[in-house]
Amino acid sequence: MTELELLIDFHVDAERQGPGSGEDTLKALSFIDINPEASLKIADIGCGTGAQTLTLAQNLNGCITAVDLFADFLTKLNDRANKLNLENKITTLEKSMDALPFDNEEYDILWSEGAIYNIGFESGLKNWKRFLKTNGYIAVSEMTWKTKNRPKEIEEHWNNEYPEIDTASGKIKILEENGFSPVGFFFLSEKSWLDNYYSPMEKRFDAFLQKHENSDAAKAIVEGERQEIALYRRYKDYLSYGFYIAKKLPS
Ligand code: SAM
Repeated sequence: MTELELLIDFHVDAERQGPGSGEDTLKALSFIDINPEASLKIADIGCGTGAQTLTLAQNLNGCITAVDLFADFLTKLNDRANKLNLENKITTLEKSMDALPFDNEEYDILWSEGAIYNIGFESGLKNWKRFLKTNGYIAVSEMTWKTKNRPKEIEEHWNNEYPEIDTASGKIKILEENGFSPVGFFFLSEKSWLDNYYSPMEKRFDAFLQKHENSDAAKAIVEGERQEIALYRRYKDYLSYGFYIAKKLPS
C-alpha cells in the first residue's frame, strides 16, 4: 500500500474526516436565507465520507453534488446515503476541487467543511465563485487563530503547515475582497474536535496498527496524528476551525 492508500484506509471508516458536528452544520445553515419552496442545488466540496452531506440532505430540499478526490470516501458516502434513503438527493463526483466541471452560476449553495485548505482559502473562493448564483451562499470551515497573539510553538507549527492561517477578521477581509458579504461566523467548539474527531480517531489507532502489522508507514501515520492531537490539546485556546458563511454579491 502506498502512503496515500494507508492514509485513506486510516480515515475511511471514520464518521468524519475532520472536526465538526451535525449541530455545527445546522448552525451554519441557519445563517442562510432559504426559500422553503425552492429546490436547491448544493455542492459539498471535499465531502469525505459525507458526515455534513447527510445532514444537509436531511435538512434541505433539492440535490447535493458531493465531491471528493478519493473514490473510497465516496463509496462509503453512497453506502451511508443508501442506508438513510437519501440516495436520490446525493450524487457523488470524484474530482479535484481545483478542476470542478460545473457551469457558471449553477449552484445555490457551495459547502465545504475542513477542506478548502487543500487549495487555499483565497484560491478556493476565487476558483469556486463563478459556480455560485448571484445572491447564493458559500459556507466553509477553515483553520483560524482565535487570538491576535499566540505562543511561539503553535505559531511556528501552523505557519509552517498552512501559511494562510489567519484570524477571523483576516479571513472575513478576504471574503469581502472577493465579492462576498459575510452573513455569519462562529468557531467550532472543543467538543467538535475532541468528542467527534480526535477521540474516535484515538480509538482506531491499535486496530489500524494491527491490520498493517505495525509497519513503519502505519506507525508514522499514528505518530503524526498523536502529535497533532497533543498540539491541539495544548493550544486549543488559540485556534479552531472558523465557520464562515457569506453571500455572493452581484458583480
Ligand atoms: N468534509 C469532510 C469532513 O469534514 O468530514 C472531510 C474533511 S477532510 C479534513 C478533507 C477532505 O478533502 C478529504 O475528504 C480529502 O479527501 C478531500 N480532498 C483533499 N484534496 C482534495 C482535492 N484536491 N479535491 C477534492 N477533495 C480533496
